[in-house]
Amino acid sequence: MENGRGLLIGAHMSISGGYAAMIRDAVSIDGNTMQYFTRNPRGGDVKALDADDAAEAKRLAEAAGISFSHTIAHAAYTVNPCSAKPEVCDFAVRSMREDIERLENFPGTLYNFHPGSHTGQGASVGIEKTAACLCSVMEPGQKTVVLIETMAGKGSEIGGTFGEVRAIIDAVEHARPELAGMIGVCLDTCHVSDAGYDIAGDTEGVLDEFDREIGLERLRAVHLNDSKNPVGAHKDRHEVIGSGALGLDGIGRIINSPRLRALPFCLETPNDLAGYKKEIALLRSMYHEG
Ligand SMILES: [Zn+2]
Repeated sequence: MENGRGLLIGAHMSISGGYAAMIRDAVSIDGNTMQYFTRNPRGGDVKALDADDAAEAKRLAEAAGISFSHTIAHAAYTVNPCSAKPEVCDFAVRSMREDIERLENFPGTLYNFHPGSHTGQGASVGIEKTAACLCSVMEPGQKTVVLIETMAGKGSEIGGTFGEVRAIIDAVEHARPELAGMIGVCLDTCHVSDAGYDIAGDTEGVLDEFDREIGLERLRAVHLNDSKNPVGAHKDRHEVIGSGALGLDGIGRIINSPRLRALPFCLETPNDLAGYKKEIALLRSMYHEG
């Protein structure tokens, strides 16, 4: 292969025009994967699935060589499964159930969510509540792959350490052993750097730590973002590729790491479609085929 075609790379896309329009947009920026919100990121409701649009999206994706098993559907930011407020936890369960039901129409889709903020209840309560939410929304036969996103550890966020991510997985598998092996992880390069893991400077060392704490077999996707802040800042402010603390050399090490290079990478940098297209071209030029 030539010109970085082996790199699975895409960007966060708008789904406001439907699934087919989103696939066309992804292809127009030379993406072979993508991410989108399952519903308005700040609101709650979701439009009914348009069967014609879904069929057209499947046809376009197949023609472009885009697999739904490399595509990330992102839960709304308002999903906080470990909130102290019961109605917020109820919304998390209801919306995640609805999302997974819909995603079964696109088999193999990676369904990414933020494990939430414990808002003063303590990390161990947050871990238990997030695990309880997963236990009530997942079923052994589902085709959708649920991913826990690694977080920056801002405020009372849980998932800011690999140990907390692992603790959620362990709690789910302890309560429902039939779900063993079904939960994956999405590593966000800005978040882990902000959380204190020097993923750009010591890529392989951080992956060793990920492997010890969580297991690399769980890692299913990467959010590829630079960070406006230095390692350990606990901020979560994404920067365009090469302009932040991770830098182009660091990003190059990440996309070419032998343990990451087969995974789907998705940009969530502050950009429009034209900016994403440039970043994707740059990243393909930095990718070592072989
Ligand atoms: Zn992310």
